[in-house]
Amino acid sequence: MPQKTKQTPMMEQYLGIKANYPDAFLFYRLGDFYELFNDDAIKASQLLEVTLTSRNRNADEPIPMCGVPYHAAKGYIDTLIEKGYKVAICEQVEDPKKAVGMVKREVVQLITPGTAMDSKSIDAKTNNYLAALMTTPTNQFHLAYVDLSTGELKTTELTSLEEVMNELMSLKTKEVVFKEAMDLEIQEKLKTTLGIMVSTQNDSIESAEFSYLTDDIGNKDLIGVVKLLLSYLYVTQKRNLGHLQKVEVYLPTNYLKMDHYSKHNLELVSSIRTGQKKGTLLWLLDETKTAMGGRLLKQWIDKPLIKEQAIIMRQNIVESLINHFFERTDLNEALTRVYDLERLAGRVAFGNVNGRDLIQLKTSLLQIPQLIDIIQLMNKGEWDKLLTELDQVPEVVELIDQAIHDDTPLSIKEGGIIKDGFNEQLDTYRDAMRNGKKWITQLEAEEKAATGIKNLKIGYNRIFGYYIEITKANLAILPEGRYERKQTLANAERFITPALKEKETLILEAEEKSMTLEYNLFTEVRETIKQYIERLQKLAKTVAAIDVLQSFATVSEKYHYTRPLMVANSQEIHLIEGRHPVVEKVLGQQTYVPNSVEMTQDNEILLITGPNMSGKSTYMRQLALTVIMAQMGCFVPADKATMPIFDQIFTRIGAADDLIAGQSTFMVEMMEANEALRYASKNSLILFDEIGRGTATYDGMALAEAIIEYIHEEVHAKTLFSTHYHELTVLDERLSGLKNIHVGAVEEEGELVFLHKMLPGPADKSYGIQVAKLAGLPDALLSRATVILEQLEQKEAVVMNHSVTSEIPTLENTKELTDDGQLSLFGMLEGSEAEIVRAVRKTNLLTMTPLEALNCISEWQQKLN
Ligand code: ADP
Repeated sequence: MPQKTKQTPMMEQYLGIKANYPDAFLFYRLGDFYELFNDDAIKASQLLEVTLTSRNRNADEPIPMCGVPYHAAKGYIDTLIEKGYKVAICEQVEDPKKAVGMVKREVVQLITPGTAMDSKSIDAKTNNYLAALMTTPTNQFHLAYVDLSTGELKTTELTSLEEVMNELMSLKTKEVVFKEAMDLEIQEKLKTTLGIMVSTQNDSIESAEFSYLTDDIGNKDLIGVVKLLLSYLYVTQKRNLGHLQKVEVYLPTNYLKMDHYSKHNLELVSSIRTGQKKGTLLWLLDETKTAMGGRLLKQWIDKPLIKEQAIIMRQNIVESLINHFFERTDLNEALTRVYDLERLAGRVAFGNVNGRDLIQLKTSLLQIPQLIDIIQLMNKGEWDKLLTELDQVPEVVELIDQAIHDDTPLSIKEGGIIKDGFNEQLDTYRDAMRNGKKWITQLEAEEKAATGIKNLKIGYNRIFGYYIEITKANLAILPEGRYERKQTLANAERFITPALKEKETLILEAEEKSMTLEYNLFTEVRETIKQYIERLQKLAKTVAAIDVLQSFATVSEKYHYTRPLMVANSQEIHLIEGRHPVVEKVLGQQTYVPNSVEMTQDNEILLITGPNMSGKSTYMRQLALTVIMAQMGCFVPADKATMPIFDQIFTRIGAADDLIAGQSTFMVEMMEANEALRYASKNSLILFDEIGRGTATYDGMALAEAIIEYIHEEVHAKTLFSTHYHELTVLDERLSGLKNIHVGAVEEEGELVFLHKMLPGPADKSYGIQVAKLAGLPDALLSRATVILEQLEQKEAVVMNHSVTSEIPTLENTKELTDDGQLSLFGMLEGSEAEIVRAVRKTNLLTMTPLEALNCISEWQQKLN
């Protein structure tokens, strides 16, 4: 067996520590660098693009190594975290001067994607959540999550893995903690389908702090998952978690429920095409002035309300703000001066707050009295609750005001932070420093006079301390022996005197002592503020809510929205001249064509027909966004609106290409339809955009019809169903709750013009060829398609005459119909022609791209030639 190479003591220490962090990059502190070794070094050098070197280069087994400078480490750490890795920070934990043998080192923090704070990828208006998940013996799911930077801590019970995945996706969770060796299948699923980092935690750590946080949990079963999460934080962060907020238990059923794909399809917070905020509901509604408000707005969009009273409370405040333009302007101005109280509080608890942060805290708190004054001017009762929650935390303002300089430096170790008069001892040191310096200035003047050397000056440097400097030219008139010579420069000499040195010692001592004292005083101030963290966090929440409500008011006024009348348990929608808020913002109010949505107790399904690109899906989205805005408490884009309160929104709209890999569009379509049909109630909203188009025409039509019937008979949810199967429009004869509407289009001089206007009744034709024309297909091709269409329409008429079946083809009668039809067709056409006609019949122009259509036609032509 080969002899194992003996490690140096340092490498032994390194390997010992690394063994505890096999899945993290270990940043091992050596002097001014963090060094990485072995595989860590090889991988990190690639990921970070730093040079790979080696330790013991000449030995048989050199050790791969790379390093990053201590002062620039943050950027490198951020990069690794963003790429989905963990980083363990290993520091020297004893003074090297006092160490016997190797300096002791320990991992002081494990940074992971879910616990990263202040990273450049986490913008101020975004939360970074770390979650923990446990399954229960009864197959329930307990979920807890925390934002370490703000201290927000929440937990809930969910009933299915789909719900869990939806919640994790909505939260944009990057990391989930499991109990070690538990729920392995689920761990794997989260990793592969959602790309989430899975971490495990073995021991459940007991701490008084934790029991305080979980005190108020009603459902004691949930304590387990919260403790799992807290234990992981405790083990990885190794520091004070005093800023964590008491656990908030929430029930998903207390909010308007939407699955992740619906949120995604409706482009609530990120655009389907770009993944960015632009073009989303968040983009439209975000006029928030504070980072906290920005984060809360996202949460409100994610969880609209379902309690009438709560919605009305928000509406009342929005209305009050709209009615008080000047007060709102003042309020906004005050809000812009409020910094991120939540994250400042977090930093206070973590102990990484500096003087400037405290000044920001003071500036923020100083806005509160102003906010109160402004709100009181508007208040007619609707603000009462928020007003009582606006805590000025005067103790903190006073303390910071007394202790901290307004223009305090960034560093907390170099003095200049604490104000005069705050601490007597500090004042004496400062007096000593000032007196000493004054003495030196006086000395300079006296010596100038005594020696007659006008440019004599007293200077200071770190190596020699204070000195008297005489230029070469004046040396001759300096009386011999007056000073002690210290240093010779090119054109000057530097001298000292015993009295000067004595003063210097006094000044430097005072300086050093005052710096240490300042640091200690600063820490004391910070510790004192720690006691107010809970109050600061509560205040932050209130300010955030005020900010979001003013944002609603600002947007509602800017775009002329109206206050919707919310009627719980009603089945009526009267949205008069409604608009899609985002499309309207993009197109401009002049261009956008408003459309009403009218649905009553007896009319639960709107079947929408109309050419492609005419505005069907915009109309459906308009309703969904209006519902979401209304239930968030915002005003809505319409002239007038009476809305029920929906419990859930289900959608099957738009692009499915970004969905779970390996599943066909049609499969996803059916799965989403299934969700809606199973779980929708009569208080739900269903939006189905061209369901069935993913399969062959008759299959699709049959399914579409059956789905509509099922909703009509069993579900009774309010449903908007767009379709290109004109055959379905006769359903209104059989289904009393179904109404046809269509988007108007006219042909003007052979050109198709979309009116974007919803009109009663079914569309008369599909305009497929006209849409193809708009897309720019060659004229010859279009004329040919028109001829084919005419022939088909004639033949269809023949077929229909032969047919003895009902007017709507179903799966059963379709066969007869085609057989019958084919007989007659074969009577007139032969061989390949008949085949082509069959192909043309099957072809659905509405679902093809122009290029696909072109290819088909070219194929047919080849067959005919
Ligand atoms: P469809 O679902 O019928 O294919 P879309 O709803 O996707 O059509 O609308 C196509 C385009 O028409 C939209 O991108 C938008 O620019 C425009 N549009 C839709 N509705 C309106 C409207 N009410 N007013 C003005 N333009 C509209």
